Amino acid sequence: MPLDIAVIGTGHVGLITAGTLARVGHTVIGVDDDKGKIESLRAGRMPFFEAGLTELVTQEIASGRLRFTEDITEAVAKAEVAFICVGTPGRPTGEPNMLAVEGVATALGRAAIHDMVVVEKSTVPVQTADRIRAVLARTSPHAFHVASNPEFLREGRAVEDSLHPDRILVGADNAWAHGIMRRLYEPMIEAGARYFATDVSTAELAKHACNAFLALKISFANGLARVCEASGADVVDVADIMGSDPRIGRDFLDAGLGWGGSCFPKDLAAFRAQSERLGYRFGLLDEVVKINDEALTSTFNKIREALWNLEGKRVVLLGLAFKPGTDDVRESPALRLAQMLLDGGAIVLGVDPQAGPAAAARVEGLEVVDDAYAAADGADCLVVCTEWPVFATLDLVRLKGILTVPILVDGRNLFDATAAREAGFSYFPTGRPALP
Ligand code: NAD
Repeated sequence: MPLDIAVIGTGHVGLITAGTLARVGHTVIGVDDDKGKIESLRAGRMPFFEAGLTELVTQEIASGRLRFTEDITEAVAKAEVAFICVGTPGRPTGEPNMLAVEGVATALGRAAIHDMVVVEKSTVPVQTADRIRAVLARTSPHAFHVASNPEFLREGRAVEDSLHPDRILVGADNAWAHGIMRRLYEPMIEAGARYFATDVSTAELAKHACNAFLALKISFANGLARVCEASGADVVDVADIMGSDPRIGRDFLDAGLGWGGSCFPKDLAAFRAQSERLGYRFGLLDEVVKINDEALTSTFNKIREALWNLEGKRVVLLGLAFKPGTDDVRESPALRLAQMLLDGGAIVLGVDPQAGPAAAARVEGLEVVDDAYAAADGADCLVVCTEWPVFATLDLVRLKGILTVPILVDGRNLFDATAAREAGFSYFPTGRPALP
């Protein structure tokens, strides 16, 4: 049976959650304190790029199951379930900034006119539910059941992941709340999603554990890449061999510029900080971050080594988003690299199918160009930063013809080494033998 739902925070997670829950038949009101965002959404304009998002949201608005408001009181008037989907950005100490979550809990307590399930969808440290429960108890006479329902969508494939999740995790502390949450997700469970029902702390902790472990896998591949470069071995072959073991798995074993984005860096720091607060120093996580930083430095050093002096050299970055399929540049390794090159005196041009405007707004001095060939004209070096499939189809012979110096630094091992060499490039991949 359909439920009435409020989704608070209509960013990358909240907006897609709202659209998905409406698609499976629930009545959903999305709330955001950003007035401009709400006005845009009502007009069918999306605040960020994600494949299929415009269709999902506009169709669900048209169906009458989805609408948006700035007024939390209006949103929770009928809601049986309220999702907290606001940001939890990192503080300089590594701890997450939980002000927005506290603010929403307070507003929910004041606005509620009946009992409801309050769901943490934002990624939060273990034991956050206790804090939310305390705020709600202070601000409202009603009974709230705080559940944890971490989000596992991947930016770049977020709509697909949300509509067809492979797993759903719900932590709750009583059978009634578990019953409501299961009802909410019944259509997905019937479609084959694995459903994990746990206590709240386990669900909260599982999200941090997943992200930390995925970052660890990538860092392992990047550490391996350094050893491969020093020894002449090929990191892609090593990863394929490792990945063929089902106990290891091939995903997240690609060496490159390192991980970034709005989640891994701050979630790792938050997990580390929370572990320490609970009395355990999770030193392995420090090493994961250190190797990630070294991956970026290693790519920077390759560029500098190939160009000799950076000052006045034109370097083209292919890809600015933190990964393909999104215009999200938060903590993008490409932007960190752009800044390092600019600091070294290089002229930096960037090309990206979606993230150009967002990148230009964040890095002063970065010149964003729409077309890869236009950017490459007269340049000294091409650097693959984001493995957008469209870059793999670039004509290397044509590029070689228009570059001043044919240097290709492949931070994502996107190109075939032989093809790059045959086109006349000095080719510097990651963790594989270079062809200078
Ligand atoms: P976001 O910055 O894209 O969206 C947050 C939204 O919340 C914004 O629209 C903001 O205006 C709104 N907001 C902030 N305070 C508010 C308030 N008091 N009332 C109403 N709205 C408010 O963030 P995001 O990427 O959607 O991430 C949200 C949470 O989900 C974070 O904890 C993040 O770690 C987690 N998460 C994100 C992803 C991802 O891929 N982006 C994946 C899994 C989990």
